[in-house]
Amino acid sequence: AAAPPSLHLVIFPYMAQGHTIPLLDISKAFAIRGLKVVIITTPSNASFIVSKTSKHPNISLSIIPFPRVPELPEGCENTADLPSMALLSTFVEATKKMKQPFEGVLIDMIAYGHSPICVISDFFLSWTLDSCHSFGIPRIVFHGMGALSMAICKSLTLLPLRTKPSLELDLIELPNLKLPFTLQKADIPEGLLDFDPNDHFARIIVETGEADINSWGVLVNSFEELEGDYVGAFESFYFNNAKAYCLGPFFLYNELKQEVKAEKVQMQSYSYIKWLEKQAGFDGRTVIYVSFGTQAHLSKDQLDEIAFGLEMAEHPFIWVVRSRTWAAPKGWKERVKEKGLVLHDWADQRSILSHPAIGGFLSHCGWNSMLESISMGVPLLAWPMLGVSEQELNAKFIVLGWGAGLMIPHRGNGGEKIMTVGRDVICNRVKELMGGEKGRKAREKAQALGRKARGAVEKCGSSDKKLDQLIDQLSNNKNGKS
Ligand code: UDP
Repeated sequence: AAAPPSLHLVIFPYMAQGHTIPLLDISKAFAIRGLKVVIITTPSNASFIVSKTSKHPNISLSIIPFPRVPELPEGCENTADLPSMALLSTFVEATKKMKQPFEGVLIDMIAYGHSPICVISDFFLSWTLDSCHSFGIPRIVFHGMGALSMAICKSLTLLPLRTKPSLELDLIELPNLKLPFTLQKADIPEGLLDFDPNDHFARIIVETGEADINSWGVLVNSFEELEGDYVGAFESFYFNNAKAYCLGPFFLYNELKQEVKAEKVQMQSYSYIKWLEKQAGFDGRTVIYVSFGTQAHLSKDQLDEIAFGLEMAEHPFIWVVRSRTWAAPKGWKERVKEKGLVLHDWADQRSILSHPAIGGFLSHCGWNSMLESISMGVPLLAWPMLGVSEQELNAKFIVLGWGAGLMIPHRGNGGEKIMTVGRDVICNRVKELMGGEKGRKAREKAQALGRKARGAVEKCGSSDKKLDQLIDQLSNNKNGKS
């Protein structure tokens, strides 16, 4: 349903690509429906945002300064610029100083008669709740995670753990959730079980969690057909009957629209797309794509093992290496030059995953990467990397819950993380995913999920309907109808 031209909304992403990108995607879905979207960001994040929103006429940017904090390196305005994850809490803490300029944006909008129907805020920016309350604007929270992992994290932090005995066995049972896999201690994001209230990050989790459950609603980048079974359990943790809206996969709205034709043409000019076109049997799903997102830091030894593992597996590959300092083992580049493409810059992951030459994705299982992969029907080789994140849960969900991928064995018998996964393991798993029977089955499952994902955002699909419903509710809210 086309919205009346006067509806405005504010989107305030957290400054990490994995959190920002999905909100830019959904901002386009709102803009296409005629809403005017104001995205709030900081000076050094602005150009990335402009490049990703294709200068849509209904989307504008409001740039506010990122506070100077002595503990953070000069110019650091994105968590990808942090020299260490230990500074994450300092970064989140610093954002609190943006409250006044943020409220300045709201005041200006109201003064122009553009009072927003809601503020969609990342959950790390918990202080926006207070501002929204003062201005009487609904706050919708966004986590960048799926409904199942959110339900698990909420259960662990908000329900009394009645299962102490099984915890000793490393198995966790949650009374409110029927899980599609066995939950073990090692799957839980660091700090959630051994919660230390003196820890800075733990304090932030408490603060953000408090604001979270007091928000007007929740935006979930997922779809009913994938996670409908867990939405109820997740929603039950929120106050005031707040609802969770599964509107995803957000990026697929964009895929369906005319406006992206220009983006598609641009994609075809990328050197790696040209490289993919040249692969023998390029529509035969023979190439494996390797990337571990924007946050994970891999050691030199681990990068070397991946290099050898990929070489030994003998499948063509595209590998995005984030490290600026790693140099490939001697002679390796020369040996793999026909088969492998190593990229050091930002690569447009979606255009790679959507290419018919791609047959598998060796991934850290960030939620966005997972959604992108299954939406394109590409099975995953799951290798969770970041302990503080929910990547272990995502990996189990997709491999054991949906059968749409295989796992890289990355833990010992006691659940401990293996420091360096060896080349043989990597080689064997790549071969199995790309050429084995298990890989073939996983590809079928991924393709079936991909069809469901696209169906969800098509006209009258589950996510498309929920998006219309949300806009109706918010506009009725504004007009005093509810
Ligand atoms: N991404 C990309 N190119 C890169 C690295 C990442 O397009 O070279 C995108 C990727 O498509 C995804 C996001 O960045 O949308 C990463 O989010 P994810 O949740 O997968 O992982 P995170 O970086 O948050 O760990």
